[in-house]
Amino acid sequence: MQIAPPDILAARIAAVRGELSATRLDALVVTSLPNIAYLTGLFASAAALVVEPEQLALIADSRYAESLKDRANECPLIDAIELPPGSSYDQAIVDVLAPLQGARVGFEATHLTVSRHRFLTSTLGRRAWESSLVESDGVIERLRVRKDAWEIARLRDGADRLSTVAKCILPKVLAGRTEAEVAADIERQLRLEGFERPAFDTIVASGPNAALPHARAGSRRIEDGDLVVVDFGGVLDGYCTDLTRTIAVGHAEDRHRRVIEQVIEAQQAAFDAVQSGRAPESVDAGARDALARHGIGDAFTHGTGHGLGLEVHEAPRVTRARPDHAEPPLAAGMVMTLEPGAYFPGWGGVRIEDDVLVTADGAEWLTDVPRIP
Ligand code: ZN
Ligand code: ZN
Repeated sequence: MQIAPPDILAARIAAVRGELSATRLDALVVTSLPNIAYLTGLFASAAALVVEPEQLALIADSRYAESLKDRANECPLIDAIELPPGSSYDQAIVDVLAPLQGARVGFEATHLTVSRHRFLTSTLGRRAWESSLVESDGVIERLRVRKDAWEIARLRDGADRLSTVAKCILPKVLAGRTEAEVAADIERQLRLEGFERPAFDTIVASGPNAALPHARAGSRRIEDGDLVVVDFGGVLDGYCTDLTRTIAVGHAEDRHRRVIEQVIEAQQAAFDAVQSGRAPESVDAGARDALARHGIGDAFTHGTGHGLGLEVHEAPRVTRARPDHAEPPLAAGMVMTLEPGAYFPGWGGVRIEDDVLVTADGAEWLTDVPRIP
């Protein structure tokens, strides 16, 4: 697994410091694991990080002792703290924060539970701590939304490999095989192609199951004349890619072919609407309007896409406008999926999904697989 080099991490850390000073924070407690991976290169199932004025206190337990040492050796800004046996992450955070006096310390409101917050405030209170814990939100996510050159290279590599997996697997979506068999093939092929793991549970939805956007892969045997939605993704160097094709197995009805073509057209309309500076809603509208023109707008029951990166669903959300939430405008360096679909209960469904990079003057497809395999 490749980890971001020290100069890239240093640039991300400098950007976070800029965000902190803009919001008048002296330090930030980071408990989101993808955010910790982004700033330090440590991919762990448990960790904590305190971004302090001078350094980054990176806390992990003894399972990660070697990785911690490597991180600190590679990146001089990182101070590695191995959790002592019998201690807790929250106690270790308290120990790092206690010496900070007169500071405004942010915490990630989306990621720190109420009970953990209560522990921090009460334990620091008993130590007569004269700083304050301040709610903050999305400080690191705001930076993650635009990928740096190193990340774009990882995502490009991932999308190439995912396309190779698709080309190998899609011809094997055949009548007589079960959904689970096809899913197992896909997950094996992801490993062989170098992915660390699937990015999510592989979807193979055949016949009537294809009408369910979030079907998984079950025991149903694929039949001649089925539509089969195959949706899978892989994680490479920590970065997620995601692809869907819909296959008309054997003797397809005209209606199958027609809906597939209409969804492909909707995806192209979304792609054509991608423009730096525009709202993601306008990309969603591109796909939605195209399907509405064909009279199947109501069959498109989810958003057009989502950002890709250290998480398989991250900003930007490419959906209809939401009254409670404003998405940032599209900007060069964002990577996202475009995945319109049309679902007809009892009959089946179609979804076509590819990954794109927002560029200075439009967008670029990252995945490259025939839309009609
Ligand atoms: Zn997908
Ligand atoms: Zn997706």
